[in-house]
Amino acid sequence: MTTIPYGRQNIDESDVAAVVDALRSEWLTQGPAIERFEAAAAAYCQSGHAVAVANATAALHLACRAVGLGPGDTLWTSPNTFVASANAARYCGAKVDFVDIDPSTYNLSADALAAKLALAERAGCLPAVVTPVHFGGQPCDMPAIAALARRYGFRVIEDASHAIGACYDDGAMVGSGAFSDICVFSFHAVKIITTGEGGMAVTKDPELAACMRLLRSHGITRDAARMQQVPDGSWYYEQVDLGFNYRMTDLQASLGVSQLRRLPEFVAQRTSLAKRYRALLADFPLSFQSRQGATRSAWHLFVVRLDDATKRRAVFDSLVKDGIRANVHYIPVHLQPYYRSLGFQPRDFPAAEAYYRGALTLPLFPALGEAGQDRVVDALSRALA
Ligand SMILES: *Cc1c(COP(=O)(O)O)cnc(C)c1O
Repeated sequence: MTTIPYGRQNIDESDVAAVVDALRSEWLTQGPAIERFEAAAAAYCQSGHAVAVANATAALHLACRAVGLGPGDTLWTSPNTFVASANAARYCGAKVDFVDIDPSTYNLSADALAAKLALAERAGCLPAVVTPVHFGGQPCDMPAIAALARRYGFRVIEDASHAIGACYDDGAMVGSGAFSDICVFSFHAVKIITTGEGGMAVTKDPELAACMRLLRSHGITRDAARMQQVPDGSWYYEQVDLGFNYRMTDLQASLGVSQLRRLPEFVAQRTSLAKRYRALLADFPLSFQSRQGATRSAWHLFVVRLDDATKRRAVFDSLVKDGIRANVHYIPVHLQPYYRSLGFQPRDFPAAEAYYRGALTLPLFPALGEAGQDRVVDALSRALA
C-alpha cells in the first residue's frame, strides 16, 4: 500500500527539460531566467512588477522593509498561519499582534479587524502593516480590508503563499494589486507551483519593487541614478543600504517559468478534486471552509473541521495507519513558545484556537486522482466510525 501525502509537487518532462536547459546555459545564479520568470508572473497576475527571491519568508521580510516597517511599529496578522507571516515583522524589529479568524472562512476576520482598529485608534497604537493570509488558497475579504487601510492609514502585505492562481471577488487575480501594497507567493515544494524553494513579491508600485530588488542583493546597486558618488568606472557599484543575499537561482526560475505555464491546469485539477471531496463528505460529521463572497480559491489545502474535536487525534492516527498522511494547519502562531515569551496566551484568539482543535488537512494535489481520493474518504469513514 502506497502512502498518500497531504501535498506533493507535480513535475513533468517539460519541467525537467527547462531545468536541464538552464544547467547547460551560461547562467546558474540570478540571470535571464529570473527576468523571464518575473515577467511571466507579473503578466499572469496583472501586477506591474515582480521580484523573485529565495523563499516566501525572504519576500515577506523584504516587503516589510520596503513599506518601512521598523522598531516601534506593529504588524497585525492572522493567528491561523505559518509562523513566517509574523516572523517577518520581528526581523525588522517590529512588534506583532494578531486578529482573530472568521469561524467559517478560517481567514483573518475583517469584522474583528475593524473592531480592533477602533480600539487601537483610541489607545493610539494603530498597526503600521496588516498581513492578511489567504488560508488554504482562499482570498480574504480584501475589499473590506483595503477600505480599513484607507481609513486608518496602514499598509497591506498579502501573504498569498497558498493562493497563486486564486481570484478576488471581482474576478481579478490575487496579486493584481488592487487591495494591497505588496503580495507574496511561495514556491516551496508543497505549494501550488514550485521552484524547490522560492518566493516572489508582486506590486504595482515601481518604488517598492526597486527597494525590494536592492535589498534582495546586499543593498548593492549598479544604477548610477541610485548612487551617492560618481562611478569610478563601469566596474563600480555601491552598497547604499544593508541588504541580504535573498537571490533565487536561474535553475529555480527556469522551473518556475515552466510551472507557471501549468498553473491553470493545476488549479482546475485541485478545484475539481475539492468539489468532489465536498460531495463525498457531505454527510460526514465535519464542516468545510466557507467561501468568502465570490472569491475563487486556488485550493492549496483541503481542510475540514471535525464536529467532535476530541476525536481529532484518534482520527489523525487512524488515517496515518491507513497510509494517509493527513496534516493539521495551523497551530495558532500566538501559542508557539516564542510568541508566548512575548506575552501571548491561550484564549487570546478563541476562534483560531477552537478551529485548530478540530482541524484536519486531507490530501489534495493534482495527481491525487479520484482513486486516491476514494481511498482517503474510505479511510476517513473508518476513522470516524
Ligand atoms: C509556506 C508559507 C510561508 C513561507 O514560505 P517559504 O517559501 O517556505 O519561505 C509563509 N506563509 C505561509 C502562509 C506559508 O504557507
